[in-house]
Amino acid sequence: MSTTEYLVCDFCYRHCRLKDGGIGFCGVRERSGDTIFTHNYGGLVSSAIDPVEKKPLYHFLPGTNTLSIAMFGCNLTCTFCQNYAISQRAWEEGAQRTYYTAREVVQLAVDNRCPSISFTYSEPLVWQDYMVEVATFAKREGLKTIMVTNGTFSEESLIRISPYIDAFNIDIKGDEAFYRNYCGGSGHPVWNAIEHIAPSRAHLEITTMIMEGVHTREMISSIGRHLYSAGVQVWHLSRYFPRYQEQKRETSEHYLKEVVQEAQESMVPFIYPGNSSLDQNTYCPYCRTLLVRRSWVSLESIIDHSNCPVCGRHIYGTWS
Ligand code: SF4
Repeated sequence: MSTTEYLVCDFCYRHCRLKDGGIGFCGVRERSGDTIFTHNYGGLVSSAIDPVEKKPLYHFLPGTNTLSIAMFGCNLTCTFCQNYAISQRAWEEGAQRTYYTAREVVQLAVDNRCPSISFTYSEPLVWQDYMVEVATFAKREGLKTIMVTNGTFSEESLIRISPYIDAFNIDIKGDEAFYRNYCGGSGHPVWNAIEHIAPSRAHLEITTMIMEGVHTREMISSIGRHLYSAGVQVWHLSRYFPRYQEQKRETSEHYLKEVVQEAQESMVPFIYPGNSSLDQNTYCPYCRTLLVRRSWVSLESIIDHSNCPVCGRHIYGTWS
């Protein structure tokens, strides 16, 4: 029997062409004969019950917990990766795994009264077959699903995954030069995904991690304009702490505040500073009424049924 010389993995924008026995860029997808399979299917390298705000999602079921899970792997090589030990190929051998079937993951969420399951910590795109299987069972139990992703979908994976995910948090890491210099990748597929998801039924929030002096006000202004024109409603600007190969000094609160002020010029309605003590409350963008009060330790929601209680305007989000 002859085997096709190359098979193409369509899980992400790289479209790796695999010879028999070949392994993709991510180190997770491997070809054997006529199939491409996912290494260590169902082997979780991390699981936890987190407040949904930690994803971060501020406008999706606020104040609830989410069962967060990850298999190993990623398709980018960010030098500042906050979770490199469960995402970068060099650490794959040493990763400790606990195997769960998709049904067992869903049961875990039910047993722990989590109304949602989050695919997070590493890059779910490279283990999307497992994610979709878990999400299928989650839907049957009435649970919501959350994907926290670098957004480098292929066209095929965007179509495949979208029906199974209720809420996305997508990183936009910087401009194209930043993706090239710090991530070993490209921002083009990320913008493509944002433009596809923003007008869809799914909930969407965006995160950008801010490195002082690298993410300039000009870069943030340009990203903000692009997000606004795509129809994005919620943007988190998160303070950087040194990690992995990038030992630059941590971003100061002062710098983050400056960048947040710049971002607010973009007209994206809801902008939040992350990993900081700056104001993280939600205000009505029309009349400035306080809608959700947040601190490190507590959350108080004043909003009722998706409308501002004072001016009555619709507020983006899934509030209950
Ligand atoms: S998931 Fe992406 S990086 Fe991994 S093999 Fe498939 S196309 Fe390549």
